[in-house]
Amino acid sequence: MLVAGNWKMNLSHADAVGLAADVVAAVAADADDVGVAVCPPAIWLDAVAERLRDSEVRLGAQNVHPAASGAFTGEVAASMLDDLGVEYVIVGHSERRQLFGETSAFVAEKVRAAQAARLAPILCVGETLEERESGDAEAIVLAQLADSLAEVESADLVVAYEPVWAIGTGRTASPEQAQAMHAAIRGALAARFEEGEDIEILYGGSVKPDNAAELFAQPDLDGALVGGASLDAASFAAIVAAARASMDADDAC
Ligand code: PEP
Repeated sequence: MLVAGNWKMNLSHADAVGLAADVVAAVAADADDVGVAVCPPAIWLDAVAERLRDSEVRLGAQNVHPAASGAFTGEVAASMLDDLGVEYVIVGHSERRQLFGETSAFVAEKVRAAQAARLAPILCVGETLEERESGDAEAIVLAQLADSLAEVESADLVVAYEPVWAIGTGRTASPEQAQAMHAAIRGALAARFEEGEDIEILYGGSVKPDNAAELFAQPDLDGALVGGASLDAASFAAIVAAARASMDADDAC
């Protein structure tokens, strides 16, 4: 399982470093099976990397450009992230698709570039409210997934199902809605890659301490991508604790 925090465009330098230290302290545990990562704004990656050193908390970035280098003002290459010790990078987040016009074809380029630099892409897919209400959400999400994986050969990635209508809205998918989409995504990944069935599929969209346990109880949920609640170390740690409890419950079965 993996619980990753997307800090988005929030926090001063001091607040980012302070939150990283608080997260390290709050999630500290013996090595267990729940991976924990934080994805600060790009400008604070180096400072946060320093604070995470020697901890179990991994570093993720929120974006990457597919080109290796060149005239792409304001962008960051995958090799630069790798240089800083970044292990994950979010690609295809709905905010980038909607606000910055990123297409699935462009997202697929990012997935390939990230993998080439040994970063694990966290590939986000999800439907809008209109698409859900049309009854075609599953077909739409699976098409987005297929297009975002164009020419991707490696199964070294994480997928995040993030219904757009649940992001930052306080409205979360029901455990049944999330499970149904995760099962469909798992089926598509199994058909797409030899090891596709083992790809971790996170849920994202208003995950909070009080709804995490019921979401993690679903068999095809392998963790969460957390926005708002990741900005508070105690809330984020409570979500990590819910993931650990669900793993313990699985082990006991
Ligand atoms: C996100 O932006 O990836 C996200 C899941 O945000 P929130 O948890 O705030 O809905």
